[in-house]
Amino acid sequence: MQFLKANKIFDGKQYLPQSSVIVIDSQNKLKEIISETGIEKDKIEFFNGIITPGFVNAHCHLELSHLKNKIQKHTGIPEFGKQIISQRMGGFTKEQIYECATNADVEMWNNGIVAVGDISNADESFKTKQNSKIVYHTFIEILGLNPANKDVMFEFGLTILKLLNSLGLKGSLAPHAPYSTSVELIAAIANYDRENNLPFSIHNQETEEETKFFFGHENDFKKLYDFLKLDISWFKAPGCSSLRSYIETLKDQKAILVHNTFSDQADIQLAADKNCFFCFCPNANLYIENKLPDYNLFQNHINQLCIGTDSLASNGCLDLICEANVILSHSKKLTVENVLQMLTYNGAAALGITENFGQLLPGKNSGLNLVEVKNDQLNFIKKLT
Ligand SMILES: [Zn+2]
Repeated sequence: MQFLKANKIFDGKQYLPQSSVIVIDSQNKLKEIISETGIEKDKIEFFNGIITPGFVNAHCHLELSHLKNKIQKHTGIPEFGKQIISQRMGGFTKEQIYECATNADVEMWNNGIVAVGDISNADESFKTKQNSKIVYHTFIEILGLNPANKDVMFEFGLTILKLLNSLGLKGSLAPHAPYSTSVELIAAIANYDRENNLPFSIHNQETEEETKFFFGHENDFKKLYDFLKLDISWFKAPGCSSLRSYIETLKDQKAILVHNTFSDQADIQLAADKNCFFCFCPNANLYIENKLPDYNLFQNHINQLCIGTDSLASNGCLDLICEANVILSHSKKLTVENVLQMLTYNGAAALGITENFGQLLPGKNSGLNLVEVKNDQLNFIKKLT
């Protein structure tokens, strides 16, 4: 039995009373949280810093880990997409992809991450996930802008999801983004996830080009579709924001909107009213677009905010503390306590896994991290369990 105390203990939503002590049993599971009165003082291990539950990374692409340092920075999403597609088409063996994904998985674990919402286009990362100490929820990502291909693309995604499930891994379906997935296909995916009580995810308003595309203005997606030799002359811009074009396909279900860099107040309110989660991946935003969301616009929706690392194709590391620090230094309104909640309970809530993660749960090992605050920035000290 271990008795752990620190300057502060954060339970996933708030700080516990100062006298709180976490009791850990011999199997590393949290037994209970008690008051220090009644425990012999010399039995208590005291840590300088804040004890938190294990972190939840709400958005990653493990299968892109081999593309670290391969993609040019600050090109914007259409060119980034082009580079990802070209690089993925060749030059790497299955073993290299597996090794890089496995190293990335270990990196996340060592950075205090215990659960991940991870995007997969194919099965390249499944073996890593099967052997990982981290619990993954895999979003099988589907693309298809042409509504005529809706059924084929949906069935293709479903086949990969069934393969994932057959390996004992959990997952759901997710459209890639509004500019790459028809609203008909987004609706079919949203329906499937809702009927199966599974979380949904979509890249949302990551680039200004997306807004231009939806308003029918000159935009860089034309270049991407030319590169892909896809004729999109049939596409009629809906004349509204991308979010507005698909938001009605979401009905009373768990949904994660990722990035939200170019979401305005009206978009945010529309999504907040649907109880969507907003996931921020600041370092990827800086890598690709060199632009961050206005975090202050999300101040009234603290319980709906979570954080992701995105992939090593657009980030130098998979470390949620680095992401949290960008948010802390670019928001006057979000506090350390807010950000700790985003890293723990909110991420778990977005993925529908609060029964096991994101909180200090008796009978469970949902991870315990020790962090400290220095100059308004978080510093990861170590994993405690
Ligand atoms: Zn992503």
